[in-house]
Amino acid sequence: MTRIVVHDAFVLTVDDRNRLFKRGTLVSEDGVIREVRKTHDGDATLDADHVIDGTGKLVLPGLVNAHAHLELTALIGAFSEFGVGELFATMTAVYNQLGRGEYDYLVKAGYELAALNFLVGGVTTTNSMDVRPTYGAEVFGEAGLRGVFGSTITDLFWDVPVDEQLQRARSFVETCHGSYGGRVRAAICPHDDWSVSRDLWERVARLADEYPTLPVHTHLLELDQSNTLARSYGAKDSLGLVEEVGLLDERLLAAHVRLADEEDIRRIANAGSGVAHCPSIFCYFNPDGSAPWTPVPELRGAGVATGLGLDDYYWHDSYDLFGEARQARLAANLKKGAKQFSSIELVRMLTIEGAEALGMDEEIGSLEPGKRADFLVLDVDKPKFTPLTNVPAQIVNNATSADVETVVVDGTVLMGEGTIPRLDTEAIRERATRAVERFCEETGWEIGIGGSDPPSTGKIVTDLPKRGPARLLARIATQSVKDELEF
Ligand SMILES: [Zn+2]
Repeated sequence: MTRIVVHDAFVLTVDDRNRLFKRGTLVSEDGVIREVRKTHDGDATLDADHVIDGTGKLVLPGLVNAHAHLELTALIGAFSEFGVGELFATMTAVYNQLGRGEYDYLVKAGYELAALNFLVGGVTTTNSMDVRPTYGAEVFGEAGLRGVFGSTITDLFWDVPVDEQLQRARSFVETCHGSYGGRVRAAICPHDDWSVSRDLWERVARLADEYPTLPVHTHLLELDQSNTLARSYGAKDSLGLVEEVGLLDERLLAAHVRLADEEDIRRIANAGSGVAHCPSIFCYFNPDGSAPWTPVPELRGAGVATGLGLDDYYWHDSYDLFGEARQARLAANLKKGAKQFSSIELVRMLTIEGAEALGMDEEIGSLEPGKRADFLVLDVDKPKFTPLTNVPAQIVNNATSADVETVVVDGTVLMGEGTIPRLDTEAIRERATRAVERFCEETGWEIGIGGSDPPSTGKIVTDLPKRGPARLLARIATQSVKDELEF
C-alpha cells in the first residue's frame, strides 16, 4: 500500500462548500483520498511512504485542462507574431500534412514536451483532440498523467478520406481507452460545426452510439459561419444540427460557444452538456474587437459545467492554466464590467467544473474522501504571497505554474523534492529541439531566437488542403445568399 500524508498545510478542498483549512491534513492510500481534515498533533509522524510538511504550502486539486490540441507543442514561438489570417493559412497547411501522416517526429516530441510542461505546471488532466492521439495516450500514460484523447474527424477542413478518419477514431478507442489503469481515456471528436458536413455528423453519431460511455468533444458556435453552415444542412442552427443527429446531451463537451445567445444557453443547460472556455487564444488572435464573447457567467448561472482550456497554447506561448483563469476574468470584465466572476468560481472552473464537463467529477476535481488522489502542493511561503490573504484570489490572480512544488496523480508523486522521476527532462528538451530543426529543414520554416518566418506563400499554398475547403467556401457562399433572400 502506498500512503501519502500532507500535514499543516492550507488545504482548499473545492468541495460543495469550498472548505478551506488553515492548518489541514490530506491522507491518500493506494491512489484514493482517505482523509481531508484539520491537522492533528502527531500527523507529522504518521506512518507513510511520503510525509510532506505542508508548513507554508497550499494543497489544491490537480488542474483540469478542459480543451486542448497538443501535437504542435514543439512549435512554440513560431506563430507568436502572426495575425489571424497568417496563423490560419500556415497552421492549416501544417495540419493538412499531419493528417497525411507527415511530421510524426514533431508530434511525438510535442507530446513529450506538453506532458513535461503540464506536469510541472500542475495540470494533472488534459482533454485533447488531435490527429495522432495514440502517441499522446502513450506519452501521458507513461508520464503518470491523466488524459482524455480523441482523433479529429472533419471533412471540410482537409482532404483526408472520411472512412480512414472514422477508422482511426475507432481504432484509437479500441486500443487506448481505459489504458494505464484508467488514467487514459478516449473521446469521440467531430471537429466542429463549420468543417463537418451533416453526413459526417450522422456517421460520427453512429460511432458514438457504439461507445455510449465516451464523451463527445467538439468546438461549437466558435465562428460566425457556425449557424450559417448548419442552416445549409437544413437545421435551424448549430445546436439544432447537433441535436438532430442525437449528440446534444450530457456526453457533449463543446469548446468556445462564443456566439451562444439566451436560447442556446438554455438548450445547452437542458441537455446537460459541458463547455470549455479558452480565453487566451481568442484574446490573442481576435480578428474583431466587437465580436461576441463566451457568456460564461450566464452559462454557469444556467447550471452548465464550464471548465477552462489552453487550446492551442503554442500559438500564444503559455502552458500556464492558472493564467487562463486570470484571462477569463480580465476578458469578461473588459467586455461586460467588473465582478463577472468571484475568485472561487474561477478556482472551481480550473478544477471540479472542468472535471464535470468531462464527466469525471465523481472521480477527480476536488479533495474529498473516496476520490482519486490528484493534487498539487504550491509553495506560498514567498514574498509575493505575503501576507497570505484571500487564498482563492491568490490562486487565480497571483499564482503561476512556477509555484507548483509537488504533483500527485492517482496517488503517485510525479514531481516532488525538485525531481520528476518518470521523465527524462533533458532528453525531452533535446528531442524537441532536434525535431524543430528537422521540421525547418524539411519545410522551409525558419524558427530561431529572433523569431520565425514561414515558408514562401507558394509552398504554403501547395501544402493547403483543396477539396474540403473548396466545398466549405461554396456552402457558406450559397447559404449566405439564401439567408439574404429570406431576410
Ligand atoms: Zn480547439
